[in-house]
Amino acid sequence: MRKTPVLYIIVPCYNEETVLPLTAPAFLEKICALAEKGMISDASRTLFVDDGSRDNTWKIICDLAKKDARYMGISQSRNRGHQNAVLAGLMEARSRCDITISIDCDGQDDINAMDEMVAKYLEGFEVVYGVRSRRDTDTLFKKYTAQLFYRLLNWMGAEVVYNHADYRLISSLVLDELAEFKEVNIFLRGLVPLVGFKSTEVYYERSERLAGESHYPLSKMLSLAMDGITSLSVKPIRLISTMGFAVSALSFLMIVWIVAQFFAGKTVQGWASTCAIVCFVCGIQLICIGVIGEYIGKIYLETKARPRYIISDRTYETEEKEEDKE
Ligand code: UDP
Ligand code: MG
Repeated sequence: MRKTPVLYIIVPCYNEETVLPLTAPAFLEKICALAEKGMISDASRTLFVDDGSRDNTWKIICDLAKKDARYMGISQSRNRGHQNAVLAGLMEARSRCDITISIDCDGQDDINAMDEMVAKYLEGFEVVYGVRSRRDTDTLFKKYTAQLFYRLLNWMGAEVVYNHADYRLISSLVLDELAEFKEVNIFLRGLVPLVGFKSTEVYYERSERLAGESHYPLSKMLSLAMDGITSLSVKPIRLISTMGFAVSALSFLMIVWIVAQFFAGKTVQGWASTCAIVCFVCGIQLICIGVIGEYIGKIYLETKARPRYIISDRTYETEEKEEDKE
């Protein structure tokens, strides 16, 4: 059995003023309950990451932190998206704790799965994925698009855990290694399995949002899917090559056929087939250029090596700041 770990619950929040007051107490209660059971240390905390909210979210976080030292908060300098917010929280917490659990702040992920997650860590696992056992509360559309998304990712060769979103336990040992992945386009669901270490799954039921609205409309879901695929897999580029070869082979056969037609004296009628071929090849070329463009775009962004998150505010003082004062 391991020593009692310090747990940091990482909660990304973007315009969540309606739901945060409802869910924040639940995180604290969970920490108290786990500490009482002796599963985690009393030094455990809830760390909120404000992802550049435009509403009162940051104020609510500051008030919570004032009320109870077990609430902490950091604020990103602007909205950078869910993945970067989670990463900011994980990186901020990794030197302060032994384990982190990232969870959405809208009460959709069953907080009671944390007991099992911590238990798995105590058994010796370094990463515990929270996996949805059902998708009853999702709309049919979301259910099917999500399924398609996981299938597509796996087919493309990106290893992701089926039906696992970003509710997971990661030990600081794994976080230190994750910090070495310097890419700017991050898709944590694909990166964490790449880091490796002993991992397992815990099943939970996902319920409906307690209040407020989802920040993941179809456009954001599509861009997440695109990021996931292009940052983890080079299969689309390979597909282009395969398609190129196939089209070339086909074209070669066509040329043979065209020459034969020419000698048979039937070439005048060829307008329709010529047009069809030109259109077909143009289409394929455009698709190919588009896919290559996606990757070049990624390379462009990665070469800039911009910071992946910028913390503008904290509800607590960091060690450097405290040292400055002395
Ligand atoms: N979120 C964020 N930045 C964003 C969008 C969302 O930090 O730009 C947070 C949000 O506050 C929530 C989590 O990410 O805690 C998941 O978002 P949401 O519940 O809107 O997505 P859904 O559950 O509908 O997929
Ligand atoms: Mg949600």
